[in-house]
Amino acid sequence: MIPLSLTKTEIHEAVSHCQEVAISFCKSTKKVKRAQIPKTLRIELSKKIGSKCPTCDRIITVSNPPSVKQYQPIASSFTVEHLFPLAIGGDNTYTHLMVAMCRHCNVRRNIVMQQYIGSRRRTPKALEDVKKFVEWSMASVLLTNHDHDTEIQEIWEATESLKLEKTNRNKKSENPPNLAELLDRISLLEGRLEQLENTKWRRLTRFITGLLKRKPRITQYSAEEILLECIRSGGTTPVKLGQKITNYQKNHDWEETGKLAFNEHFGFSKQQTYTTTISNILGDRIKVTGIRNNASYSIIVPDSEASSSVLLQKTPSITESNSFSAPRGNPSKEHSEKPKIKITPEEFSKALLRQKERLSTPNFSFLYGSLIKENPIFNLKQYGIKPNDYLIDKCSDFLTIIERPDGNTPPTIHYWINDLQ
Ligand SMILES: [Zn+2]
Repeated sequence: MIPLSLTKTEIHEAVSHCQEVAISFCKSTKKVKRAQIPKTLRIELSKKIGSKCPTCDRIITVSNPPSVKQYQPIASSFTVEHLFPLAIGGDNTYTHLMVAMCRHCNVRRNIVMQQYIGSRRRTPKALEDVKKFVEWSMASVLLTNHDHDTEIQEIWEATESLKLEKTNRNKKSENPPNLAELLDRISLLEGRLEQLENTKWRRLTRFITGLLKRKPRITQYSAEEILLECIRSGGTTPVKLGQKITNYQKNHDWEETGKLAFNEHFGFSKQQTYTTTISNILGDRIKVTGIRNNASYSIIVPDSEASSSVLLQKTPSITESNSFSAPRGNPSKEHSEKPKIKITPEEFSKALLRQKERLSTPNFSFLYGSLIKENPIFNLKQYGIKPNDYLIDKCSDFLTIIERPDGNTPPTIHYWINDLQ
């Protein structure tokens, strides 16, 4: 468990090994391994608190682990950086490739990876990029006087002046978040996910589930989906929303119902209000006006347009039936009457990037919702096409598409877009 210092030869060997692992990971459909960093390793690495960060001049300062609720990190806060990133096949067994790093550098390195590699792709060029990134990721920390890849190094330097906003989980920001802020929020959410995945209760549940070999539920919905659907079907005040959610929980055989059960299920703070949860996770979709019991919720982007999720189709209210699993109409019949598409994938992609420029968020659903409001010709529904399908099938030559699964099982995939690298 104790991190070792490596010789130059060992580092080069580690680079080649990790490149191979990363390539086969990217070619596979394996899931990213997220798990809490072993306590002993965290303690060992935290001895670096008070020393200089390996990649900048900051002195690393004390911080709670991200899984602790009071996690209030600053730029110099202690973090554990995976030199072989989890997103491309690393895991917590590569202890000698896990180092103490300031949070600012850690977030910057995440951005460099997102920018340079983007989503998991299998083209020879994409796999070559993964290899280059693995080398850079390790060499930039472990080797001095190494000849770094100039393109990656440029992205790294471009992120230097990046400001980390102090993430306030209880306040909705005035402007749409920028990339750094989003990554920041994700790191917080990932911390919460770690916590959720590893509580004793969860482990016990997994164990019992395994024993009983219960059939998994056909569909599990994310907190976002449940909240959106409950608000859409009339849960527009805290009291009404509470009733809708309780009904949903009853209809879906939850053992406990109510706010506490909801918060516990999704790993939110026990006493957190629905209003806070909405502001935190649906700030871009739901507008909250008023406070406490006088709060009211309204949908910003017409949700039936913004996503192709089954939940967001106009199904009957969930309070009337289990409409979350209600079957949809016959799609082939639906498609036969649709007009021919009037836009090209390139036009669509460019229009999305213009929205991205304006709104500074990479979230596809959000950008698409805003785009079709501005110019209905881009509304793919009228041509009988699902937005997510069109994005994936047609637009990868014009955009970098990043998959962002949420923390649920099975995960709902959200898409982020970016310029082509
Ligand atoms: Zn640093």
